[in-house]
Amino acid sequence: MHKPSAVIIGGSMGGLFAGNLLHRAGWDVMLVEKAASPLTSRGTGIVTHPGLREVMRLAGAQFENRLGIEISRRLAFDAHGQILSEVQLPQNFTSWSRLLNILLEAFPAERYHLSSGVVRIEDGDTKQAAKVHLHDGRVLQADLVVAADGNRSEARRQLFQAPPMRYAGYVAWRGLVLREALSALACERVGENFAFSQIPGEQIVGYPVLGADHQNTVHVNFVWYRRTSEETLRDILTDAQGRHHPEGIPPHLLRPKIRQQARDAAHAHLHPVWAEIVDKAPDLIVQTILDGVTDTMGTQRVALLGDAAFVARPHVGQGVTKAAGDALALVQALTAADQQVPQALAAYSRMRVPVGYKAVTMAQQLGAVINLPEPQMAPWATHFADPYNLIMETAVEIDGVAHTSSV
Ligand SMILES: Cc1cc2nc3c(=O)[nH]c(=O)nc-3n(C[C@H](O)[C@H](O)[C@H](O)COP(=O)(O)OP(=O)(O)OC[C@H]3O[C@@H](n4cnc5c(N)ncnc54)[C@H](O)[C@@H]3O)c2cc1C
Repeated sequence: MHKPSAVIIGGSMGGLFAGNLLHRAGWDVMLVEKAASPLTSRGTGIVTHPGLREVMRLAGAQFENRLGIEISRRLAFDAHGQILSEVQLPQNFTSWSRLLNILLEAFPAERYHLSSGVVRIEDGDTKQAAKVHLHDGRVLQADLVVAADGNRSEARRQLFQAPPMRYAGYVAWRGLVLREALSALACERVGENFAFSQIPGEQIVGYPVLGADHQNTVHVNFVWYRRTSEETLRDILTDAQGRHHPEGIPPHLLRPKIRQQARDAAHAHLHPVWAEIVDKAPDLIVQTILDGVTDTMGTQRVALLGDAAFVARPHVGQGVTKAAGDALALVQALTAADQQVPQALAAYSRMRVPVGYKAVTMAQQLGAVINLPEPQMAPWATHFADPYNLIMETAVEIDGVAHTSSV
C-alpha cells in the first residue's frame, strides 16, 4: 500500500507538531528547516494551556512533570508599586527552548534537515504531487506540503492571496533573567507571579519560567510592549553596519545605543523592579508586533499552518497552541478524507480560518490599550485600561484554538 508522504517546511513549533502527528499517523515525513543550527536559543517564555498539553501528548511528546512551572497568582501594580488588582489563576509557564527541545526529542532526528531553505513551492493537483525546491537545487516531491515557515512564509507569498502582515504600531522587548540574580523585591513581585504594569503607550508583563537545562533553573521572562513609530522601528532594526533586518534583528546585532535607550526608558517610566529585570537581561530581544490573516489555509496539496497563516499578537498567548491546534486539525482532516489531500485541505481550511480570525481579533482588542489605530477600538482600550480586565483576559486559553475535545 502507498505510504503517503509529506514535506514540512519549517522546523520550529508548528513544523514539529505537524511532523510528530503525521509521523505517528503513518506518514513518510521529511522536515526541512533553513536555519543551520537547532533553534533552541531563540525564544523566551511561553504560557501553556491544557489544550496545548493535550496536543503534545497526541504528538508523542514526553513531558510529564518537566514542562514548566506552576504559578497561581496574577497581579497588577503601578509605577509606585501599589497593587491595583490581584486574582488566582493557576497556569503552567515554560521557556521556548524547553518546549522546542521536548518536541525535537519526539521527532526522528534523521527526518529533520537543517540548512535546507525552500525557495519555491509547486502546489500540484489531484493527480500531480507537490514539489518543493531547495536553495541548493534539490527538488522534493510529496503528497502533502505543510508550510510551517512562520510569518515571512514563502508558501504564503507564492501560493496564497493573503494580505501582507500588518505592523501593529508597537514592539515587544523581551528577555530572560536568572531568578536567583534578582533582588528580593523583584523576586516577590515578578519572580513568583504573573505580573502586569501599564502606562499610556506601554505595558510590561513578567513571569517565571523553567529554562531548557536539566537542573530546572528558573528564569524570569518579561515582555515589554512599547508604542514605536515605523521610523524608529527601522532604526532599531538596523545594525552597526547600516544593514536593516526587517525580519527581526538578532540580539547580538542590536546597536549598544539602542539597547541603552531601552534600559534608560525602563528606569524613567517603570517601577524599579521592572527596570532591574530589563537591566539584568543578558540579551534584549526586540519583536515587531504584527497582525496576519488569510481567508484560506489550503491550496491543492499545500497547507499553511501556525504563524504562516495567522499571526495573533502575543497578548493572547496562543502562538504555539494555535500551531499545535492547526496541526491536529490537519491530521484529523487527512484521516477523515482517507488521505485525499486536496479534499482534506479544503476541510482543514474551513475549520481553522475562523479560529485564526478569532485569535487575531482578541489579540487586537487586548493591544488597543497600547496603541489605538482605529477609533472603533476605543471601548477595548478603556476595557483593558482596567487592571482587573487586563489580568483576567490576557493569555487565557481561547476555545477551539487547540482543536481538542476539552476546549
Ligand atoms: C525567533 C522567534 C522567537 C519567538 N519567541 C517566542 C517567545 O519567546 N514566546 C512566544 O510565545 N512565542 C515566540 N515566538 C512565536 C512562536 O514561536 C510562534 O507563534 C509559534 O512557534 C508558531 O510558529 P510557527 O512554528 O508557525 O513559526 P515560527 O516559530 O516562526 O517558525 C518558522 C520556522 O520556519 C523556518 N523557515 C522560514 N522560512 C523557511 C524556508 N524558506 N525554508 C525552510 N525553513 C524556513 C524558520 O527558520 C523557522 O524555524 C517566536 C518566534 C520566533 C520566530
